[in-house]
Amino acid sequence: MAKVTILQRGGVKYHESLRYWTERLLPELMSTRLANTLDLRIEVRKTVLSESNCGRVLWNPITNAKKKQYTIIIYREADLPKQIAALGHELMHVTQYAQHRLGHSAKGNERGRWWVQDGRRQFFPYATTDYWSSPWEIEARAFEAQTQKTFSAHFNEGPFHTTLEYERWCARR
Ligand SMILES: [Zn+2]
Repeated sequence: MAKVTILQRGGVKYHESLRYWTERLLPELMSTRLANTLDLRIEVRKTVLSESNCGRVLWNPITNAKKKQYTIIIYREADLPKQIAALGHELMHVTQYAQHRLGHSAKGNERGRWWVQDGRRQFFPYATTDYWSSPWEIEARAFEAQTQKTFSAHFNEGPFHTTLEYERWCARR
């Protein structure tokens, strides 16, 4: 399994739920073999993020380390369903990086991202790329929507009345 560390100062804590969903979603996204190489650091923070943009992945792979480190930032003030949906979105980006389908690079003076589609690597300069319609964002938003649906089904079918009860259920499992 991936190593998962969750950090937060202040605010309502949904760490057990975040851990449960990380462990539940990773097998849908990648092989166990690849998941075993991950060292995920989930920081729940009150930051520049907002209700409409609840997550981010910091690009910090340490290539010579045994485990690949990725830091996921989740917006602390978001409610549980939004935090889990954001987690799904960001885990898809971690997957894209870990599978070497997405990366950062420069071409001459231009900085941007590369993306592998059908075996071909394409360069997307930051200056001219519409973030919203980029293929890695479309893929991440689709997985986010799927996560949101799966989460709400799980929550509504279970014996929980509040998100804090859900958090306790995740802790006991
Ligand atoms: Zn994204």
